[in-house]
Amino acid sequence: MDKEQGVTVAKSAGFCPGVKGAIDKVLELEASGKKPIYTLGPLIHNKQVTDMLAAKQISSVDKPEQAQDKSGVLVIRAHGITPAFRAEVMNSGMEVVDATCPLVKHAHDVISKYAQEGYHTVIVGDGGHAEVIGLLGCTQGKGVVVSGPEEAQALPHYDKVNIVSQTTQKESVFFAAAEIIKNKSDICQISNTICHPTKLRQSETMTMAKNADLVIVVGGKHSANTARLALLCRELAPQVVHIETEAELTPEQVLPAKSIFITAGASTPNWVINQVAEWVRQTRKKRGISFTGILQRFWAKFISHSAYTALAAAALTYVCMKLEGLAFQYKPLLFSALFVFSLNTVNRAWENKTRPAGKLPAIFGYTAAALALVVAALMGLKTFVLAALMTALGLLYPLRHALKSKILSLPGTKDILTAIGWGFACAFLPAFTNDLLLRKSSYLAIFYAVLLVFMRSVTLGFTSANKDLMIGKESFYKAFGIGKTKLAVMGLLGALTTVLAVLLTITWKPALVAMLLLGNLYTICIVIYYYSHTASRGVKEETLIDAQFFILWILAWLSRFI
Ligand code: SF4
Repeated sequence: MDKEQGVTVAKSAGFCPGVKGAIDKVLELEASGKKPIYTLGPLIHNKQVTDMLAAKQISSVDKPEQAQDKSGVLVIRAHGITPAFRAEVMNSGMEVVDATCPLVKHAHDVISKYAQEGYHTVIVGDGGHAEVIGLLGCTQGKGVVVSGPEEAQALPHYDKVNIVSQTTQKESVFFAAAEIIKNKSDICQISNTICHPTKLRQSETMTMAKNADLVIVVGGKHSANTARLALLCRELAPQVVHIETEAELTPEQVLPAKSIFITAGASTPNWVINQVAEWVRQTRKKRGISFTGILQRFWAKFISHSAYTALAAAALTYVCMKLEGLAFQYKPLLFSALFVFSLNTVNRAWENKTRPAGKLPAIFGYTAAALALVVAALMGLKTFVLAALMTALGLLYPLRHALKSKILSLPGTKDILTAIGWGFACAFLPAFTNDLLLRKSSYLAIFYAVLLVFMRSVTLGFTSANKDLMIGKESFYKAFGIGKTKLAVMGLLGALTTVLAVLLTITWKPALVAMLLLGNLYTICIVIYYYSHTASRGVKEETLIDAQFFILWILAWLSRFI
């Protein structure tokens, strides 16, 4: 937990496994080119996420008949649906994907089992909530919903009753209601179906909220579990605010509090929570504007606008050109920086096109692409033609789904294409321009660049997934999971070392290669650190991961003195 500026962010804040699983399923479908995608009800109650999904042509319908394009896919969301509605959906003739949370399915099974044995069911939850409607549908017509102990008092006597809870119910409310029902029943089964992630979230909130002057609960205003979390906090902390984004906060709210606790509902993505935490910290920092504070803000902008990544590409180009035996030339460095900047910026702008800040970066991105082509033209006609082709392909990447290409939707393609793009700009193009492609050292330099950038991209993807960024299986980590990603990264480190070892055996620039082997140590440290922590992608992560290119640049430059 980070306590910077007296602000603590809950460890348990962010997507629960059920919501995460449902979003992953939908993004997988979208990445595989299946469109349109209809979710039965909003996938989650969070405006920022539903806006992003809408931009990807993923919309919500209440019934299969409302789906305009019957060749699309219907997705059952994490909340689940009633067995009767499930039968209707299955008979709709549309392709159906079930993203019901396994913990909700467990609650369905518990209810069905006892209902079959003749038990009445009492559900402690919110009557109109989608999950509760689904649970009620499993009771074989002998179910009732109560919101808590007060409504439980009004229930009749039961001969056999099974008491279950909405998965996000507050435990004390559930047990208080269950106690009342038990006292007026002959046989009573208490089935606590509150899910484990909810229990963890509530327990952490109870510990932290009572020691905070201000609790900020982040999440959709229509999200039942976020509203319940806010209610729980109101019992414990002197001041509680429930917000969807940082835009709803004012400095007057966050400045007087000595300690602030930020928590969030199960449907709030980590990037929204991080934005809120960042705003609160920055606002509190501004109380005393310091030189380091200004520097930090500048650095954060430098990273988020891809300027740092562009310089990293130039650094790698310098290293590759040295490996290829080329004398220093500024044009290939300038080209790779502009090329990587433009593709990065345009791709990010497409990903963020529902956010207001999405348009201006796109203009910068296209301008950088045009400048990159001017530089390529100065390097010669054949360089220009090839650069124009690769730039066009890179800029068209965000439109890949329109092509319905299976190859572009394969797992891990984003990382592979990023590595190929960098390998082209940093290693291939300088060798191609200088007619050095047929040299063994050039092939090895290209291979080295591609491997290094692929590993960087996979590691950044891993930290993005920890942040709940909306990435799908085009990211290697999302496609293959942590075990295979670790294995792949180990293999990549081995391959990188092998490339350098081969260069050493052909006695190609031994001083330079020895220095790059030294640089490998930094890369190994980065890999060990990030795959043994669940760090979320941020300024620090991007700084440290891309720093490897600057370290290699310095080492490559120093090799001239050996
Ligand atoms: S809150 Fe619990 S039961 Fe509901 S979707 Fe999340 S993990 Fe599943």
